[in-house]
Amino acid sequence: MNEIFIIGAGIGGLSTAIRLAAAGLRVTIYEKNPQVGGKMGQIEADGFRWDIGPSVITMRHVFEELFASAGRRLEDYLTLEPVDPLTRYFYPNGTVLDAKADPEQMAAQIRQIAPPDVAGYEKYLRYAAQIHRITGPVFIYDQPPTWRSFWRVPFPDWFKIDGLRTMQKAIESHVQSPELRQLLGRFATYVGGSPYLAPATLNVIAHVELSGGVWYPRGGIYAIAQAMARLAEELGVTIHTSCGVKEIGVANGRFSHLILENGKIVRGTAVVSNLDVTTTRQYLLKNFNAKAQRRRGLTIHHLPFTIHHSPPESSCSGFILLLGLNKQFPELAHHNILFSPDYPAEFKAIFKQGQPPTDPTIYIAITSKTDPQHAPEGGENWFVLVNAPPLDDRYDWHANQQAYRDLVLQKIADFGLDVRDHIVTEQVLTPHDLAEGSGAWRGALYGASPNSPWAAFKRPHNRSPQIQGLYYVGGTTHPGGGVPMVTLSGKVAAELVLEDLA
Ligand SMILES: Cc1cc2nc3c(=O)[nH]c(=O)nc-3n(C[C@H](O)[C@H](O)[C@H](O)COP(=O)(O)OP(=O)(O)OC[C@H]3O[C@@H](n4cnc5c(N)ncnc54)[C@H](O)[C@@H]3O)c2cc1C
Repeated sequence: MNEIFIIGAGIGGLSTAIRLAAAGLRVTIYEKNPQVGGKMGQIEADGFRWDIGPSVITMRHVFEELFASAGRRLEDYLTLEPVDPLTRYFYPNGTVLDAKADPEQMAAQIRQIAPPDVAGYEKYLRYAAQIHRITGPVFIYDQPPTWRSFWRVPFPDWFKIDGLRTMQKAIESHVQSPELRQLLGRFATYVGGSPYLAPATLNVIAHVELSGGVWYPRGGIYAIAQAMARLAEELGVTIHTSCGVKEIGVANGRFSHLILENGKIVRGTAVVSNLDVTTTRQYLLKNFNAKAQRRRGLTIHHLPFTIHHSPPESSCSGFILLLGLNKQFPELAHHNILFSPDYPAEFKAIFKQGQPPTDPTIYIAITSKTDPQHAPEGGENWFVLVNAPPLDDRYDWHANQQAYRDLVLQKIADFGLDVRDHIVTEQVLTPHDLAEGSGAWRGALYGASPNSPWAAFKRPHNRSPQIQGLYYVGGTTHPGGGVPMVTLSGKVAAELVLEDLA
């Protein structure tokens, strides 16, 4: 019987495993961490509980479809509840806006700050929905796109994809108020990009959230990883945790075996790597690359990276504070954004200067608003996230971590939310922790940078072009980062494996 290995039990790995096992294949996952979920993790301390990776879940239909593909109902594994408001936005000028999925309620919110923008916002949503309608079948829900994919898009729709101007330019052509412009531009960060650089096509993300809604899994985001692992095991998938893979063995251009961290060698038909593609190529294929380079008369010593692939520019990373507070803040919602006064400066710091912003936009998720047992009575569990540059030698997190933590808490206090005397327990996670936790190249949250009109075409294919029997799944391959996307990536990877076996 064909045996398929999956390296990593992140959401992409689990999604692939479910689909392959449902198709009747024997599937084994090797996961280096003691728990499944990858970037979707959770931490408990002193009576508090936090999700430490993703916190905003959209595209409910993607999860329904995954469970349905195995003949199950999502509701039997996971309770996904709509979040209202979607997000509460706080601006430095004192404006507060609740983003709503209900069009009437959202119009009422906008009317309070910028009445003329109600019509522009509605037009913007229709524009973003149109991008979804056009790009979805070709660029999101199907196999990786090539230049030929454009032929599947009717010619009049080519220009409606809006890939040649930036997100920000498109937003500015629809709404005038600085508050709304900043709110809509923020969706670039959902894939780790900048609204001033990313193509306008990515306005599709606003459609997904503002029209489709945000979902919260009862119990915490980690419930998604647990539900997927449960389904995978029910389908016969073997999950080995605390069992890292050291090397992908290749013979005659084909995948032949895995060498595990514990020294064991296992042989199988094919392997799907859920690791960051760059990390897979740099570390797990090190010997394969070294041999290829020797064949070309070079030693690995001469080159900083493999001759096949130089690592792509990375999406942003993040700086995280997990705060256990002995106080509740009724003015905050489940999801909150405290906007910076100068959004362009923030993205310039991240993507041009390689520095964390000195005046950052701050995201605060508080799951205890919905699941009170996530904090002791009278308290709250704050997950505070600030976008940060991907790791390089321009910023030393080890030296600056404490100072940056103080800066973030001061900025939160500037919004009238001084929590410094209410912190019962606290943890700081820097881009180094993100890199070490899941193997994310440079600690990037969403793989390669989306800050180019060609990003979708440059993303590594889910089928290795060099090595037969090697596939990729997850945020660094098609269709990209974010929990729904990597769940879809599992569908694509599984389809390719099954296609090749057939
Ligand atoms: C702080 C943060 C906030 C985010 N916010 C959101 C959000 O709000 N909404 C959203 O949709 N997305 C969000 N994301 C992105 C989302 O979490 C990711 O896109 C998604 O979880 C990535 O899944 P993946 O399948 O690519 O694999 P990963 O989660 O990267 O998992 C890879 C797995 O491989 C394992 N592994 C690594 N090396 C080895 C080895 N040698 N051997 C065996 N196993 C190995 C790792 O331990 C890990 O379990 C966020 C991410 C972060 C970090």
